[in-house]
Amino acid sequence: MTAHTLRAGAILTVDLDAVVSNWRLLSKMTKPAECAAVVKADAYGLGAAEVGAALLAAGCKTFFVAHLGEGLDLRRAIGFNSRIFVLNGTPPGTEGEFLKSVLMPVVNTVGELAAWRTLATEAGRSMPVALQLDTGMSRLGLSPGDVAVLAGEPALLAGLSVELIMSHLACADEAVNPANHRQRRELAKLRAVLPKKAQTSLANSSGIFIEQGFHFDLVRPGAALYGINPAPGQANPMRQVAALSARVLQLRDVPAGSYVGYGHAFCSKRRSRLATVSLGYADGWPRAASMSAFFNGEVLPFAGRVSMDVIVVDATGCANPPREGDLVDLICQQQSVDDIARAAGTIGYEILTRLGRRFHREYRHSATPPASATALREAQMGKR
Ligand SMILES: *Cc1c(COP(=O)(O)O)cnc(C)c1O
Repeated sequence: MTAHTLRAGAILTVDLDAVVSNWRLLSKMTKPAECAAVVKADAYGLGAAEVGAALLAAGCKTFFVAHLGEGLDLRRAIGFNSRIFVLNGTPPGTEGEFLKSVLMPVVNTVGELAAWRTLATEAGRSMPVALQLDTGMSRLGLSPGDVAVLAGEPALLAGLSVELIMSHLACADEAVNPANHRQRRELAKLRAVLPKKAQTSLANSSGIFIEQGFHFDLVRPGAALYGINPAPGQANPMRQVAALSARVLQLRDVPAGSYVGYGHAFCSKRRSRLATVSLGYADGWPRAASMSAFFNGEVLPFAGRVSMDVIVVDATGCANPPREGDLVDLICQQQSVDDIARAAGTIGYEILTRLGRRFHREYRHSATPPASATALREAQMGKR
């Protein structure tokens, strides 16, 4: 291990090849629709700059973030050769920043719409915007009533070039829930009275897997890119992206009847070999998720409670137990983000987005040449 990795207790490895391969799979499934990438919350905790650059190189042209600040950071990281939509709208007074960094505002309220209309009039040129419509989630977006007003008074869209009309599914992870179809019909209905040239978008990761009718012109996967299963109940079609391993700080042999950790929640039933591992709930590992570590394929169950910075695991049964300084695996082939979520009573999204800032991070990226290199090679091969 390098000095760098020794400064942190644990190493998070992000497989960018897997992210690209997941994006390509979704892209293929949804053609001819455009496959965008949702990289909000720092690409669900995995690094928006790195993920964004890898997907841009793979041919992704459209990105979504939640906040203006995330949009500014992403623009700085990946340059101007892409569209970046900001989902959570445009706080009053921030319009100039949107324009300067060429960020696409997702207009959610009538007030935001008025602000962009005024700006377009003042600037004497058309302003590109996206409209989010609420089709039955009651969270963000213009209501059906707002849309009816717009349809009756086209001047309310004067100076605005509507690039995208989008809505979001409330129950996409339940493919058979009739609410999905109600939302799809509602979007189609509202969309019919709004500017024709705009792209239409409804599906998040799980929405893609409901059926083709949900793809419209553009799909917005986030979670599936990062390896979370978009089709709960079926085998996960996505490649795992995150791997987490943590250092063994100390080994100890204890007699039967020894108590371990806070609250003495574990008591050894036999003479045991315990390993104290450098990972805790302050790193984002949920305190409720009592799971296992893995070392060369052998299982080391947690012994006692997860504390802030360390977990004790039971290596008694191991044929080849780890030594002090070795790394044991916590997120790996045998134990996915979704498995941890299930044990903690939450969803994979929450596990990923909480994974700590104090890990040492490593990025794997081999397969994808930059887009320009691909274009060059294709040109040389006479493909273009
Ligand atoms: C977060 C988000 C997405 C991505 O959802 P996933 O379930 O992670 O694929 C898409 N659209 C909107 C509006 C979102 O907020």
